[in-house]
Amino acid sequence: MAGLIPHNQPQITPEDREAVDAVLRSGWIAQGEQVLRLEQHFVERMGGGGACAVASGTAALFLALRGLGVRGGARVAVPTYSCSALLNAVFMAGGSPIVVDVTPDTFCLDVDGLARQAPGAEFAIAVHAFGAAAPVRRMVEQGLGVVEDCCQCLGGALSGEPLGTCGAAAVFSFYATKIVTGGQGGLVWSRNPGIVEAARDYRQFDGRERYEPRFNLQMTDMQAAMINSQLSRLERIRCVREEIARTYLRTMPEFLSVQADRTPQRMWQRFVVLAPDPLVRDALLKHMKERGVGCIVPVERFELLHRYLALDPEGYPAAERLADTTVSLPIHAGMTAAEVATVSTALSEFEP
Ligand SMILES: *Cc1c(COP(=O)(O)O)cnc(C)c1O
Repeated sequence: MAGLIPHNQPQITPEDREAVDAVLRSGWIAQGEQVLRLEQHFVERMGGGGACAVASGTAALFLALRGLGVRGGARVAVPTYSCSALLNAVFMAGGSPIVVDVTPDTFCLDVDGLARQAPGAEFAIAVHAFGAAAPVRRMVEQGLGVVEDCCQCLGGALSGEPLGTCGAAAVFSFYATKIVTGGQGGLVWSRNPGIVEAARDYRQFDGRERYEPRFNLQMTDMQAAMINSQLSRLERIRCVREEIARTYLRTMPEFLSVQADRTPQRMWQRFVVLAPDPLVRDALLKHMKERGVGCIVPVERFELLHRYLALDPEGYPAAERLADTTVSLPIHAGMTAAEVATVSTALSEFEP
């Protein structure tokens, strides 16, 4: 048997290779013209504001929080069902993470639980989980300074507006498993020029007239060229992923369900199936593997942020249940029709 159908794989086209090669031939491979082009692309995509490309999504989160004024132990609400990059960024900025449970259908931060679980929070990180829109507007209405974590929803839109334009700042990641990738990379976008300027100032330490502690969080032009090339086909990528999702939805057995979402123009970063209980979930994982399909548990129990911080799991029932009952199926732009058929047939023939 040939290997498993990969759960995820970057799609690198001849155009992407040529774009990187052009940078290699140019003699300038560090931060330069391609990074500027990437930043301009985001200003146009988001309808104004400013953008600062950096080395990773985690760096972008840190810079957005820092620019927003997170310091001195300021309380930052974060959804527990996400990734430890959120904790790292909050701690690096000097804030205190306050972990909040998610809603069991959308997997996004439970805005109704905010007052109870995060009293006194001034800031929040809203993760659009696997492409599904988080309730950012309601978080802003509660007076929070919100950083929208768009690492998994690039290309998605709500009421014609790209996701990310509602909060005080938005961050993106171009890591290898994301929708558009340069291997690594990240970006901060904001309408607030102060946030963008602070990020630009901090990402580069060399050749500065006045000394201040800064770092080196730059992106290279090789990464930016690959990202720019992929961004030029982003809507096509979204449509391909949506078509794969529709195929799976048509064949999925009735006792399984999927993550709910109100985003009409959704970017399906992940197709996550919910099993009725942990035993069925484990059986589904085993069945898909036997059929040659690479599936993963999207967020394992030990990865939940409340567990990393040794908080009582009883306070986070929705996330605990998601960690025990979910399976993520392959969904990426490079999948062949035969691979999509193999996955959907295997899914339709699953019996617990
Ligand atoms: C990937 C990801 C990050 C971190 O991005 P890196 O580029 O890997 O540092 C942060 N938040 C979310 C929701 C992500 O998916």
